[in-house]
Amino acid sequence: MAKLYFRYGTVGSAKTLNLLAVAHNYRQQGKRILLLRPELDTRFGKESIKSRAGLEMAADILVAPKTPLLEMHWEGVSCILVDEAQFLTGHNIEELRKITLLKDVPVICYGLRTDFRTRLFDGSLRLMELADSIEEVKSTCHYCNRKSVANLKHVDGVATLDGPVVQLGAEERYYPVCYKCYHVQIEQAAKQFAEV
Ligand SMILES: [Zn+2]
Repeated sequence: MAKLYFRYGTVGSAKTLNLLAVAHNYRQQGKRILLLRPELDTRFGKESIKSRAGLEMAADILVAPKTPLLEMHWEGVSCILVDEAQFLTGHNIEELRKITLLKDVPVICYGLRTDFRTRLFDGSLRLMELADSIEEVKSTCHYCNRKSVANLKHVDGVATLDGPVVQLGAEERYYPVCYKCYHVQIEQAAKQFAEV
């Protein structure tokens, strides 16, 4: 039986670069792979999967909550690679799990573990529950040299816990942070707010 993989990391941990490298390797060997991405993430334009380092490939399938993944034709596909998997629904993930079982195609999902409030995303939750293999793509805190574990949201340069979890293409910035720096930044912002 093929496996379901979840490779998670914070923002800026080169997850997409990692995905594109895997895709490149498969294609160089003449193998057929398919690139999936949630439909809602239109940060880099509709059809592409683009890393911060500038590499880019076209997405083959944009996945919506009701996309019937299990009913699609996966014959001859060596691997399915999923970018921004945190934004898939639990049902999407369950269908990918069944594809590994019933179609014998491995599925490698890349995504964030938690949102800027340190809560699991729906897709990440189901992946944590169902994946055969869970691997961390590591990166360093924006403020110190510890490993980053959380995603800190800034609006106008100030850390915040406000606003919607999914707000793509907006003016906010997200930073990879260790939990200590996450805590310090949120506390400082709360103090600033109290003084105004
Ligand atoms: Zn830190």
